[in-house]
Amino acid sequence: MSVAALVLAAGRGERLGRGTPKAFVPLAGRPLLLHALAAMAAVPAIDSVVPVIAPADLERWEHLGPQLAAIPKLAGPVFGGAERQDSVRAGLGALAAGVEWVAVHDAARPFVRPSAVARVLDAARAGGAAILAVPVSDTIKRVRAGRVVETPPRPECWAAQTPQVFRVELLREAIAKASAEGWVGTDDAQLVEWLGVPVAVAEGDPDNWKLTRPEDLAAAEQRLRGTGARGCG
Ligand code: C5P
Repeated sequence: MSVAALVLAAGRGERLGRGTPKAFVPLAGRPLLLHALAAMAAVPAIDSVVPVIAPADLERWEHLGPQLAAIPKLAGPVFGGAERQDSVRAGLGALAAGVEWVAVHDAARPFVRPSAVARVLDAARAGGAAILAVPVSDTIKRVRAGRVVETPPRPECWAAQTPQVFRVELLREAIAKASAEGWVGTDDAQLVEWLGVPVAVAEGDPDNWKLTRPEDLAAAEQRLRGTGARGCG
């Protein structure tokens, strides 16, 4: 099967507190985005890796020059859009004909392991869609206007991660339907769930963090120093 990875780095909303777009904030000396790209490129089953960046970051991307040359399977950048699903749609539009599967990954998750990517690719094969997720250790509350409205049973609560893997045609259909109906999801699987298609779950690694706040970046630096590792790739 032909598999492409889309690495999403076009989000504008968040900052890790450095005045630089999150995907370009340095972690252990290279931008966060490069860690995620290299991690996905290291997975043997993945044939191509497509970065999805904001148009405003093109110059930053071009400045990465030699660092990009060190990443195998890397395609040219695609411009993302206002919502996550706009960025995914743009990435899907850039895939070569014949790419059958897509693994959508957050640039903000630099520590994904090839073994986890292999698990989620396997899990997707039967039904066409799968996510990585980890069981939560806290009890989850649904809260509205400062009040608890529901406590879902904890054994049924899992935190979704990326990559999330889909048959390309299935994800295209899910995005088209969400757009036609004005729905915006917070992850890609949600769009497929809205089609009524079951999404399989492969257990992720707890350290496949999404770096969001300044303290996450500090913890990631410490982790890389502690292990003596350079990050993936
Ligand atoms: O906002 P969220 O935490 O879901 O962002 C996860 C990833 O999706 C980030 O790496 C971000 O850059 C990307 N994203 C994107 N285009 C958007 C919104 C988010 O590529 N419009």
